[in-house]
Amino acid sequence: MASPDLFLTDAEIVSEEGILHGGVLIDQGKVVEVVPGAEQRAARHVIDVGGRYLLPGVVDGHVHFNQPGREHWEGYRHGSMAAAAGGVTTTLEMPLNATPPTISVANLDLKRRAVVGEPVVDYALWGGLVDNNLADMAGLHHEGVIGFKAFLSDSGVDFARIDDDLLYAGLLKAKELGTLIGVHAENEYVCRHLGGEMRAGGRTDTASWCAGRPPAEELEAIQRACYWAGVTGGRLHLVHVSIPEGVRAAAGAKVNGVSVTVETCPHYLLFDEQDFERLGPVAKCAPPIRSRALVEELWSCIASGLVDTIGSDHSPCPLEDKAAGTDDIWLAWGGITGIQTMLPAMLSEGVNRRGLPLPQLVKLMSANPARIFGLYPRKGRIAAGSDADLVIINLEKEWTLAAEGLFSRHRHSPYVGCTFTGAVERTLVRGVTVYQDDHVTGTPGFGQLMCRSA
Ligand code: ZN
Repeated sequence: MASPDLFLTDAEIVSEEGILHGGVLIDQGKVVEVVPGAEQRAARHVIDVGGRYLLPGVVDGHVHFNQPGREHWEGYRHGSMAAAAGGVTTTLEMPLNATPPTISVANLDLKRRAVVGEPVVDYALWGGLVDNNLADMAGLHHEGVIGFKAFLSDSGVDFARIDDDLLYAGLLKAKELGTLIGVHAENEYVCRHLGGEMRAGGRTDTASWCAGRPPAEELEAIQRACYWAGVTGGRLHLVHVSIPEGVRAAAGAKVNGVSVTVETCPHYLLFDEQDFERLGPVAKCAPPIRSRALVEELWSCIASGLVDTIGSDHSPCPLEDKAAGTDDIWLAWGGITGIQTMLPAMLSEGVNRRGLPLPQLVKLMSANPARIFGLYPRKGRIAAGSDADLVIINLEKEWTLAAEGLFSRHRHSPYVGCTFTGAVERTLVRGVTVYQDDHVTGTPGFGQLMCRSA
């Protein structure tokens, strides 16, 4: 037998169960063996990890790459390069902020063809549930989309929000198909009313964006989505939950047998309203950045294991779409460029500053998202038979993000200027190094499309 392709030696291998000192043998893109201790294996290439931590690649359940139709905002090439630099080896792309949105098999096909030759990391696609494409769900599911995204509040672009009728019917359909509904949970009517009042009162400040979308409106939408998930038995995934009360509401529903999982994002864990005021439009998103008290409570929810996944909600745009909000926050694009900094941010603020155990981080950022979206055990773990998607991190390295260091098409992010303790040194996708020492080495088009498995 010919020698296997690659052996990574002297690594602290992190799984959701714990940390093991040893090596990883890789052949043809797959992990062949996890070798405990100092034992070596013959291979054609060897990477000496030098005692650093080796994590399964991050599975980012929530990205917007805007292709086709708005690739001048980001596109798969730039987005996946930023992913590689951030230790993200699989991106799950949302069905909106591209034209056309992924709400039919024909549109899905267009997207798949448009992005061929672009991604340097693996990817999978969300379908969309809009008002009204119920009849398209089965086709999209059978073509391998990993779930269906729906908005309870206005999405701001060409992706129609749903009301309770389609939330109900969509959850039922998801149950029948064996998939899930990912919900953006904000209350449309209260946001519309409060937003209208802010605008009528001439408010243009960052605080008015937050005041127009208070925690109570988000909580109501979360509770309502959980309620209908309970009634229908359909699987619900709450994306970008920004409030601890929302996390606890979902946890309570879970205890009562409701099939619900919760995502939050690094920007809700690192920034507060004062930071938003200082940073301005670059940190505008929906739901908005919350108060320091809520940020601290959200960390408690993470520590208690009530949050299932961390996703970036990477949603870039051209600089001018952020600059438009300099004097009026309501005019800025709402979305944060964050895929590249997601893992470093969690290493720095979570692991190093707050003592979040690395195995728990792996569960939140790799194993759980892979499981929820039907990609496990191929993705999300380092074990024999899995894809060799690996990240070597340096947990002690201190560094500051400069705009020039971003791989996104438009180099703006609220994290620019932030100093992190913890860095991504090298990223491998299926045994191939796609990022190393500040350089993306992956080939565009190397990334493969993943589908939800039964
Ligand atoms: Zn999003």
